Amino acid sequence: MFVERTNKILQLFIPAIWNIKDGTRSIYLTFDDGPCPEVTPKVLDILDKYNIKATFFCVGDNVRRHPQIFDLLIKNGHRVGNHTMHHIKGFNTSCNEYLRDVEEAGTVIDSNLFRPPYGRITLRQLKELKKRYKVIMWDVITRDYNPRLKPDKCLSIVKKFSKPGSIIIFHDSQKSAANMLTALPMAIEWLIKEGYTFKTIE
Ligand SMILES: [Zn+2]
Repeated sequence: MFVERTNKILQLFIPAIWNIKDGTRSIYLTFDDGPCPEVTPKVLDILDKYNIKATFFCVGDNVRRHPQIFDLLIKNGHRVGNHTMHHIKGFNTSCNEYLRDVEEAGTVIDSNLFRPPYGRITLRQLKELKKRYKVIMWDVITRDYNPRLKPDKCLSIVKKFSKPGSIIIFHDSQKSAANMLTALPMAIEWLIKEGYTFKTIE
């Protein structure tokens, strides 16, 4: 439960978008770290099956290496966001260097949305980026990247923490694929049963 609790504390200190409450039962699925040729097409198949559009926070370097997979995201009507060029941690990087990396990613990802890798960003970096980007965090982290967790646990996190307006993180990566590809359809089925409508972050 440590990650979930930490998230509550981070929400107090990082002035960014953690959920989107608008009085409707909307939910926002987000996928970080792609595009990935082994995984992204499978995610797209699952989303297509339920006719759901989602938001993908892409790593610029992955977009550069797999432009055709990135184009597939756009062609399928999903929204994309900037997740830096090299998936760097803001805490370990000077403000200028961080902004340069985001800017470099911006040359291959046309978007006004940004999500900091690991959620690690300094207040100064955040302030600068907010001049050009909506900075999107999350309030439900499935921890699909953790090999010690089973897909059932990812699902139970979704069930426990999702509420109207929640932004849920999955990872579009090989490391997370075993958990994510199993947990995602189960989570979608549960969210549909709970009356949620899926939206992209605008
Ligand atoms: Zn990431």
